[in-house]
Amino acid sequence: MSFSNLGLSTPIVEAVTGLGYAQPTDIQTQAIPEILSGKDIIAAAQTGTGKTASFVLPMLEKLTTTNKLRGKRIRALVLVPTRELAIQVESNIKRYSENLELSSMAMYGGTEIEPQKQQLIWGVDILVATPGRLLDMAHQRALHFDVLEFLVLDEADRMLDMGFIDDINKIIERLPVKRQNLLFSATISADVRALAKRTIDPNACEISTVSKQSSKPQIKQWLVTVDKSNKSALLSHLIKEQQWQQALIFIETKHGAAKLVSQLAKRDISAESIHSGRTQAVREQILADFKSGKIQFLVATGIAARGIDIGELSLVINYDLPDKADDYIHRIGRTGRAGAAGEAVSLVAKDNFRNLCAIESRLGHVIERKAFEGFDVKKVVPVSILNYVPKNKRVN
Ligand code: AMP
Repeated sequence: MSFSNLGLSTPIVEAVTGLGYAQPTDIQTQAIPEILSGKDIIAAAQTGTGKTASFVLPMLEKLTTTNKLRGKRIRALVLVPTRELAIQVESNIKRYSENLELSSMAMYGGTEIEPQKQQLIWGVDILVATPGRLLDMAHQRALHFDVLEFLVLDEADRMLDMGFIDDINKIIERLPVKRQNLLFSATISADVRALAKRTIDPNACEISTVSKQSSKPQIKQWLVTVDKSNKSALLSHLIKEQQWQQALIFIETKHGAAKLVSQLAKRDISAESIHSGRTQAVREQILADFKSGKIQFLVATGIAARGIDIGELSLVINYDLPDKADDYIHRIGRTGRAGAAGEAVSLVAKDNFRNLCAIESRLGHVIERKAFEGFDVKKVVPVSILNYVPKNKRVN
């Protein structure tokens, strides 16, 4: 299968070929023809499967055939949970549309609103936005939706987790009724379904690539059980012993992130941290340095790391296990992207046992355990019960 066989025209095919995309990924093969035919879609697709191009490419194709852009108007709206993701998606749009006369913009909070208003003055074809800032713009009448043709809800599950449901509902109320809707989510939970019911044509095409082996390269997962007090020493040991060159390291809190960076520094390992306490400009610089390889180890809190897309990333470390199994799946999705090999390593202390059970139950198998000399545990982490259901979700 080639991109042109999917119904995309030469300027778009040339742009993606120029980026080295030899052939469409599974989600792209499934979604692109459906979107081109005008259908609404609900797609269960994780980050790393090529999902951004799967909605951007057909949208570009359709937007080039009509041209109704006016001042303070947008023709396509992509709602995303975080500013990092907004920046990343919009930069992909720029690359995919380099041979087209379409404009795009990323809009997010935490930065001055005026420059963003200015950017909207002549209208923008595709706007990628976080919900809060978008609503502010609409309230200030800096943005109108009357010529909108597309709504994309990207990482819908994450937007709901982050509490954006009210904002999303308010935004949807403002949109023209006749529009094409595309919803992407790593998992289609009951909440996502409820959102889809309100937004999407009941006859929408449903696409899933999550469980298909071909869509997701094999990610080598393993864990080491460790006493909490020994975690940073173990991590330093692993970095040296395994000769890791670069990794994204997930941690629970921003305080913990700063502490880990200094603990690693004491052992001559240079790392940086990215979390909500850092300014947007600093975060962007750190990300750029990490992508270029200047920074070897990036310690990130879950939310800050959400939108990170680093093509060659081969290793993800869960210094702290996430609370939710879905977050674990998202995190390991940072590695092994679009066909590359990946490795995901977790440091698991006894306190994390419940989380481990939930994750391994979700995976349907236990994760391989490795032990390292000098790091025997005092508090043993038992082997998981695979059909674990958290207490608050049990049905009696
Ligand atoms: P996404 O799932 O949209 O975050 O994409 C994950 C990564 O895969 C990004 O780095 C894309 O540039 C890359 N990618 C998307 N589509 C393809 C493709 N057809 N071939 C190779 N790489 C791709």
